Amino acid sequence: MSNFGFTLLKARRIDYDANDRSIADFIHDNEPSFRWCIECGCCSATCTSGNYIGFSLRELQILLKRGENEEVKEKIFNCMLCGKCILVCPRGVNTRNVIALAQEAFKNKKQHAV
Ligand code: SF4
Ligand code: SF4
Repeated sequence: MSNFGFTLLKARRIDYDANDRSIADFIHDNEPSFRWCIECGCCSATCTSGNYIGFSLRELQILLKRGENEEVKEKIFNCMLCGKCILVCPRGVNTRNVIALAQEAFKNKKQHAV
């Protein structure tokens, strides 16, 4: 590892090799527009679920791409799949399908764990 003269706090490190990116890969494979997201937050700003319970699609997408799934696995089911976020996304991400696929992947993971 390069020595930059400083170190990162452990809590601030993202270990892409150790994290489980299988959910993000599943979404990428089935909904390529997942890659187009620039994390602008327009989807979160317009989300009804977000207005009431702080659901943030922007945040969840970032966590999924990092493979930090623990926080996402319950929260993702707070989406009502209304599709409002698709209407405001400047990048044309099929957000509803991204969420539906994430929900499917987490359900499958849970079933296989039983
Ligand atoms: S509105 Fe689209 S580009 Fe912006 S954070 Fe949401 S999904 Fe990403
Ligand atoms: S589909 Fe989900 S994330 Fe998008 S606006 Fe509706 S409740 Fe929010």
